[in-house]
Amino acid sequence: FGERPVSTQGFSLEPSAKPTAESVLASILENPGFGRYFTDHMAHIRWTEADGWHGHQVRPYGPLTLDPAASVLHYAQEIFEGIKAYRHADGSVWTFRPEKNAARFRTSARRLALPELSDEDFLGAIKALVTQDRTWVPTPASEAEESSLYLRPFMIASEAFLGVRPSKEVDFYVIASPVAAYFKGGVKPVSIWLSSNYKRASPGGTGAAKCGGNYAASLLAQKEAAEHGCDQVAFLDAVENTWIEELGGMNLFFVTKDGRLVTPRLTGTILEGVTRDSLLTLAKEEGLTPEERPISIDEWRDGVASGEITEVFACGTAAVITPIGKLVSENGTIEHPEGNQVAARLRKRLLDIQYGRAEDTHGWLTRL
Ligand code: PMP
Repeated sequence: FGERPVSTQGFSLEPSAKPTAESVLASILENPGFGRYFTDHMAHIRWTEADGWHGHQVRPYGPLTLDPAASVLHYAQEIFEGIKAYRHADGSVWTFRPEKNAARFRTSARRLALPELSDEDFLGAIKALVTQDRTWVPTPASEAEESSLYLRPFMIASEAFLGVRPSKEVDFYVIASPVAAYFKGGVKPVSIWLSSNYKRASPGGTGAAKCGGNYAASLLAQKEAAEHGCDQVAFLDAVENTWIEELGGMNLFFVTKDGRLVTPRLTGTILEGVTRDSLLTLAKEEGLTPEERPISIDEWRDGVASGEITEVFACGTAAVITPIGKLVSENGTIEHPEGNQVAARLRKRLLDIQYGRAEDTHGWLTRL
């Protein structure tokens, strides 16, 4: 396994005066849920137009002091990332392809007119925080228990100014939350509502950036999904209302009966998932032919009906791979076949790498 050290140099430490008691931490780690509990510290780096990035610090987790005029609160100049730290059987802690998240964070920053953060600072902040709060990284009791430490880097425009222009003051933080499997009760196929009233992204918009506004815009569609008894919402393209894009927080894959693994190509309106990219690579090793191309909603419907499409699944850091059991829309419901063997195989392959149970032949792991 490659061990690429990440520097923590330059991060000063202000330790928490009230760290969580061991017994309390033990009970949190027993049943962490998802994104409910946060570790004792957070990493912070400040940016000003005059001084650039400075003040690298790990300090006690706690509420931020923001001026009510801070531009993030009014104009949503904000971006974030989602990445996990995994504890291996020997106790060591690793993260998965962080350079991809660092690069995507820079892409998001550019689109939101925020300052770009270097790989060194992005990884350094993660490393510094995980080093300080290492006891918060769960130890999975078995392969079935997919617990990890979810890391949430984010950047906000903090200048107190109501003019609409890029902020001259910005803050970057990393917070961390111990998490169990995203969907409680194991991997069960989820139901998908096809949104016809709402769009997630449009050409020239911010769909390819991981910015808060995209998620705010998806909430009403997600609510509509719930009203139709569905777990998640799928979005079509905004121009032709024809092409499959993605879910509110996951990319989509289709498995065909002749062994192709098909996912919508990147159009600038889809978020480029790290899991998506990893699966396109792993597909070949699993004897599948990866394919990135436009997929229409008719192809989804007709393909499932004719048996051409044998599986549909969603993927992302939080839930890894989640099979889709049915597609519900105003035109009716399409039930997908049971089985989902390819999804299960790819899921196990990816988790085995992330948790150090399989050799990391692609050099995807970074030790924290
Ligand atoms: N699409 C959207 C809209 C997302 O929010 C996410 C989660 N980051 C993904 C796809 C999956 O990306 P990743 O595999 O990098 O977690």
